[in-house]
Amino acid sequence: MPVELDPLLFGEIDPPQRLLMGPGPVNAHPRVLRAMSADLLGQFDPEMTGYMEQVMALYRPIFGTKNRWTMLVDGTARAGIEAALVSLVAPGETVLVVNFGRFGLLLTEILTRIGARIETVEASWGEVVPLAAIEEAIARTSPRLVATIHGDTSTTMAQPLEGFGALCRAAGALSYVDATATIGGMELAADRWDVDVVTGGLQKCLGGPSGSAPITISDTAAEHIFARRHTEAGIRMKGLEDGQGPRISSNYFDLAMIMDYWSEKRLNHHTEATSMLYAARECARVALGEGLAARYDRHTRSGRAMAAGLRAMGLTVFGDDAHRMSNVTGVHIPDSVDGEAVRAMMRDTFEIEIGTAFGPLQGRIWRLGAMGYNAMKHKVLITLGALEASLRAHGFVLPLGEAVPAAIEAWDSAGVGETA
Ligand SMILES: *Cc1c(COP(=O)(O)O)cnc(C)c1O
Repeated sequence: MPVELDPLLFGEIDPPQRLLMGPGPVNAHPRVLRAMSADLLGQFDPEMTGYMEQVMALYRPIFGTKNRWTMLVDGTARAGIEAALVSLVAPGETVLVVNFGRFGLLLTEILTRIGARIETVEASWGEVVPLAAIEEAIARTSPRLVATIHGDTSTTMAQPLEGFGALCRAAGALSYVDATATIGGMELAADRWDVDVVTGGLQKCLGGPSGSAPITISDTAAEHIFARRHTEAGIRMKGLEDGQGPRISSNYFDLAMIMDYWSEKRLNHHTEATSMLYAARECARVALGEGLAARYDRHTRSGRAMAAGLRAMGLTVFGDDAHRMSNVTGVHIPDSVDGEAVRAMMRDTFEIEIGTAFGPLQGRIWRLGAMGYNAMKHKVLITLGALEASLRAHGFVLPLGEAVPAAIEAWDSAGVGETA
């Protein structure tokens, strides 16, 4: 039996002021929240279609692309992933998944529903897949599409993508990258990487709420997607049922229809999620206003400071140091400590959320994020101070007072390859 609640007693929404320092979502930038409260417009209002054009222009530099088809899929980041895969891949086609964590598994899960033939090339959790292994797997499997993740928050690893698209292109394969966890926090270079489709979300380094998935699509991929659909005339002639072509099986996630909606044709599809579009637009304006290089540097400093602080507490940072994401840091939970009890104290006493982990890492690591509006020096320092106190309260013996100064020093220092 459900608990009986009296709806008339529910108060106005008034959530606690939590500092979200996990792997996402994070606290949204106040400018983004303000933009979301702006007045609504009809989806074909010239002001609204003008905002849509602006969103396309704003997201090109963020993806590192000149792609015409740079827009939003309405839904969380997973909507962008699903739209990309269902629009690119027909049942029976071979897809190579470059898998190094939970989000690589999500790609295979979605591709299984599509009915694709799935091949994988894998790294164990905490490592990335070498380019040579991807090249070998492409040669072995002749895929139609190669799909991977840029930063997999489940393992905190960032897959290097320089040269990735060229390998796919040389083998006649399309390429897809889920960059949800890195967009706005680590450099995306869709054009230089030569990848066909990249998708993201707002709730990590872009500092917005979840619910909109920015996407960019190369001309090559767009042609492929448009070619998969029956023309209106074809549908009328043949009838929908006996269409033999590899039609895109989703209506909501049909990128051909979504591109038509975002084109000057403005063919009706869904009702654009106006408030989320305002949010996505403001996220991008905040990011470009700060400057992407400065923003990436801020995330790098946050990650460096977080890792330095954790190490100064005597903890062990998780994963291959050379390929860690700058914006999420995994750390081993000391054997003597109940990880969930420490997380509960962080939440209840300090109003700070840090992340647990999944699959093989469940109960073994915490994940501490510093992303978007939360990738700030004082928020990293407050989190480290609170973790030190929480660990101590749970009987973990650690050098007191070391973490915060170590983090300050790491934040202020110039990293490898940087000039001071
Ligand atoms: C967080 C994350 C997602 C989240 O998808 P949602 O649908 O927005 O929950 C997807 N991919 C990666 C790599 C992520 O880190």
